[in-house]
Amino acid sequence: MSLRNYDDMSDQDVVEAIHRAKAELGASLTILGHHYQRDEVIQFADYRGDSLELSRRAATTKAKYIVFCGVYFMAETAAILCGPDQIVIQPVIEALCPMARLATAAEVSEAWEALSNMWGGDLLPITYQNSIAELKAFVGQRDGAVCTSSNAAALFAWGFKQKGHLLFTPDEHLGTNTALAMGIADREIGVWDRLGSPDPAALRDCRVVVWKGYCYVHTGFEPQHVDAIRAQYPDAMIIVHPECPREVVAKSDATGSTSGIIKMVEQAPAGQTIVIGTECNLVYRLAHEHPDKRILPLYERTCRSMSMTRMRNLLYVLDSILMGQPVNVVTVEPETARWARVALDRMLQAS
Ligand code: SF4
Repeated sequence: MSLRNYDDMSDQDVVEAIHRAKAELGASLTILGHHYQRDEVIQFADYRGDSLELSRRAATTKAKYIVFCGVYFMAETAAILCGPDQIVIQPVIEALCPMARLATAAEVSEAWEALSNMWGGDLLPITYQNSIAELKAFVGQRDGAVCTSSNAAALFAWGFKQKGHLLFTPDEHLGTNTALAMGIADREIGVWDRLGSPDPAALRDCRVVVWKGYCYVHTGFEPQHVDAIRAQYPDAMIIVHPECPREVVAKSDATGSTSGIIKMVEQAPAGQTIVIGTECNLVYRLAHEHPDKRILPLYERTCRSMSMTRMRNLLYVLDSILMGQPVNVVTVEPETARWARVALDRMLQAS
């Protein structure tokens, strides 16, 4: 397949070429872009959103080609939710979420067996969307569901209608913050540390057991960052993502998923200072889009995986589609996809 020399193209030439490719592909193409993508990429997204919104788009679009600008678990989720004739493509196939790789289905199975045996089967698994397809399938096979940071509380409430105990993977912080916000006592929340010889008996009195996984972007926010920014801007509203450690959440004014943060910014009055603890591509975009408000990052944190996708990568995959030989196609093994879809459908119905 003969493709252009992308490095020799000017940015303007790349922008124009992407517009031409989009026009040529028309309704056969949908480009989905996660909020953490760079501006140079997100400008071409037909839909931008968080994991939940983009999952819904993937499940409903009629386009033959779904180009997902995000990280691998997102494209994988789109491949699970879309129809058999649709093709999901990720511009940079190596863009993986490190957190999603902190829990394999085999590792979670060990925790599941131990805890389920202890509680006589009274245990339901819930996994964050930021997980590999095999783990979503594991959860789907055991009556559980997927959740995102937008709907974690709704899915926890749904889970407690089924069973008395929840096993949440792979993000310790989202699980803990969600449980605390629901009024679950600290002593009823336990952590399963797969690297630390976990003792199920020590977790007997817990209602929620969270996997010891984390997002390195959000665990980079620390309580002293909140203290420092509050001293500098005493009237600021400080909003952080629920993947942040609980100590950071406790010192902030609000938590929100990426979509939740965007809504809070939109609803804030002109002149308000808003400090945001999440990936800085989104924070700087919000600052640009809301010049009537002062919007600042709590601390500058970038997701290296999200930043891997550049507009030249997007043009490359669009060219490959136009040449009839799409590259970077994301597929999921059918049996895995079937059960992962069960877990994802439960989420879409429960939220
Ligand atoms: S921001 Fe964190 S959870 Fe999101 S893709 Fe990057 S590493 Fe993964």
